[in-house]
Amino acid sequence: MLDALQFETTLAAYCLPREERRNMSSLYNKMNIHQIRQLAPNIHWEKYFDSLLGIKITDQDEVIVNVPKFLTQLDDLLQRTDKKWRELLQEFNTVVTGQAREEPRWEQCISSLTNSLGISLSSLYVRHHFKGNSKERALEMVDYIHREFMKILDRVEWMDDQTRQRARDKALAIRPYIGYPNELLNNTEIESFYKGLKFVKDDYFSNVQTLRKWSTDLAFGYLRKLNKKGDIEFPAGILQGAFFSSDRPNYLNFGAIGFVIGHEITHGFDDKGRQFDKNGNNVNWWEPETDKSFKERTKCIIEQYGNYTVPENGLKVNGVNTQGENIADNGGIKEAFRAYQEYVKDNGEEPSLPGLKYTPKQLFWISAANIWCGKYRPEVLRLRLQAGSHSPAQFRVIGTVSNLEEFGETFGCPPGSPMRPAKKCSVW
Ligand SMILES: [Zn+2]
Repeated sequence: MLDALQFETTLAAYCLPREERRNMSSLYNKMNIHQIRQLAPNIHWEKYFDSLLGIKITDQDEVIVNVPKFLTQLDDLLQRTDKKWRELLQEFNTVVTGQAREEPRWEQCISSLTNSLGISLSSLYVRHHFKGNSKERALEMVDYIHREFMKILDRVEWMDDQTRQRARDKALAIRPYIGYPNELLNNTEIESFYKGLKFVKDDYFSNVQTLRKWSTDLAFGYLRKLNKKGDIEFPAGILQGAFFSSDRPNYLNFGAIGFVIGHEITHGFDDKGRQFDKNGNNVNWWEPETDKSFKERTKCIIEQYGNYTVPENGLKVNGVNTQGENIADNGGIKEAFRAYQEYVKDNGEEPSLPGLKYTPKQLFWISAANIWCGKYRPEVLRLRLQAGSHSPAQFRVIGTVSNLEEFGETFGCPPGSPMRPAKKCSVW
């Protein structure tokens, strides 16, 4: 175990820290096989690509290498390591996640099914449990929220006109996919998707092997095919529970799934997303002055969240690693709130909830906070703080709403109070 630990530790030390993985250009290193062989001469690259892709490679074939130095160091480490494997997965999981016992068998089976046969499982789900009009209602929300994001682009004073136009073009290229594709209802399509997959009764191990091979072939089958661009997907499974229901007041939906929709749209314009243009290419479309303003605004978010301390363990939130998600949260909730005001203009006020003293506007914010209600084991909380890209749930709520004047207004917080501070951060 000590050998295995040392191997993992060495490997981890070779990896580029998360803080240094945000510059997409430095991770985009196009190389041909000849160059890769020089980086890592002891790895059998022909055999590697042949067994993965079933093709013969030539020295001129090109691949993208994220971290070239890693290959060199890995090559060297493999030379110095004898490879014996022991699986003490459960003990490992206990240390990392605090989960002392294995999950019940049915839970393991369901998650194994979700991971491996997701399409057929979804096909059954949408046939039996998805409410027909959810798709239209959700699409309508996307329209309202997308329009608010366009208004933000039109109005932010820190963008020059050229950059603004490029941002507009990119935002207009977004294509939402809501609920499910109609192919999920078509047995012929489903069968052809899983063509060639044969399972054997009573042989789980070989079935898993078959599935892994099939799904690897599927993934590599995308080689040299056109990439789909601009997709944002909201799968059928999220359109339920606290997130969405078509038969409740829409302020609850806008606060919950609306917040998520705005979040995903804004991701295209966070610190990483903005490094890609409307075609999804890693191209810098920012004029220098606007680039500078964006970074100043982002710095405010990094510092705000980096100053949050988690009461349970005294650890600080990593403001750098979580900036992209925080930018998306801040833009997302603002777009959703404004979108709901437009919805009310078009459709009239909705009644508040019986038995509660809250106004519809207040219920919007409560619904937004409600979707992040959860509980972490101490180990998971620590792991998320060290390696996660999302802030812990409580700061996703407090951080975003305290940046919005509209929240303080809705609840009548005194100006300058913790939830309505004078200094607010805003990127979008
Ligand atoms: Zn996100």
